[in-house]
Amino acid sequence: YKKFGKTVSYFEQQNCLPDFKEVWIEYKVINSQALQATLKRVDFAFGRFFKGLGKYPIFKSIRHYSGWTYPSFTGWKVHSTGDNGYLELSKIGQIKMRGKARLWDHPKALDIVNRNGQWYASIVLEIDDTLLKNSRKTDNGVMAIDLGCNDAIAWTNGEENGLVAAPRFFRKAEQKNQELGKSKRRKRSPNFNSSASLTVDPERSPRVKKKVKASRRWKKVQKLVSKLSRKVANQRQNFVHQETTRIISGNSTVVTEKLEVKKMSAKAKKGDALSLSKGKRKKQKAGLNKSILDVGMGMIRDALKAKLSDIGGLFVEVPTKKVKPSQTCPKCGNQEKKSLAARTHVCHNCGYTQQRDIATA
Ligand SMILES: [Zn+2]
Repeated sequence: YKKFGKTVSYFEQQNCLPDFKEVWIEYKVINSQALQATLKRVDFAFGRFFKGLGKYPIFKSIRHYSGWTYPSFTGWKVHSTGDNGYLELSKIGQIKMRGKARLWDHPKALDIVNRNGQWYASIVLEIDDTLLKNSRKTDNGVMAIDLGCNDAIAWTNGEENGLVAAPRFFRKAEQKNQELGKSKRRKRSPNFNSSASLTVDPERSPRVKKKVKASRRWKKVQKLVSKLSRKVANQRQNFVHQETTRIISGNSTVVTEKLEVKKMSAKAKKGDALSLSKGKRKKQKAGLNKSILDVGMGMIRDALKAKLSDIGGLFVEVPTKKVKPSQTCPKCGNQEKKSLAARTHVCHNCGYTQQRDIATA
């Protein structure tokens, strides 16, 4: 565009691909649809830029490019019934797959993603309606839950109650994480951004610093860091899926109070510190954040929502400020303020006593 003032459309670029592959032969091994999908992403980024919706697209090195897409049925085939199996990619070959899908039907599109040093296949399935309905039969029970930090889930169906203890995956991994962070700080970290500030007008940014490459020892520790966080994320996801599946197995209606995870886990602001010293307040809030995020309250809620919508169930969120579930007696409706530290609900009106979170539920 700079040289000739001519806009290049997506289709012009697509038509250049065969010639392009003759010059850069390393691209010959890649499926042409995958190349087109990449080109579409580039075109999309430029489209956003010209509409004023995004920044000028910058070159992405292989380090930042995490995978590729098969937008239709061609170039790949899945040999699986939803439980393990293998994937056949044209020009690459057969790859074993590990994992189990909740449902399986006609594979429609495929994404290959590299995340934290591991390869994932994300397969879009077209699922028949009746199959979907039959797969998710459940009883018509109603369950109320309270998501918390001390106990992850307090539940009741009016007759039975229970508590699910919060796992402390992150806390457990935290010490290890701190050790790794310390060791990383003693090694040479990379700085790739200094010369990546290429704007539309390169003459405007005369300051071009040299890129700094990470040392091999730094990369080694970094690998351990991402391995650790991957482990914690997997543990958390596992916990969320297990517990939510258990909740909906007998219940098609689940009630909980509206939770504003984002607000609750927002960083402590300067203005917050009225009665407490700044540092203490920040520390307190950080500790609370960790608990909230550790349990994955938002994840539990989202998983419940999704699973209930799959079975045609109902997910009800009660407005917290209006109803005040934690300050209301479940037996007589008497409202009484409780401090956060009070772990037991004792009603001074009717005498009903219950564990705090179960009473809230
Ligand atoms: Zn009461």
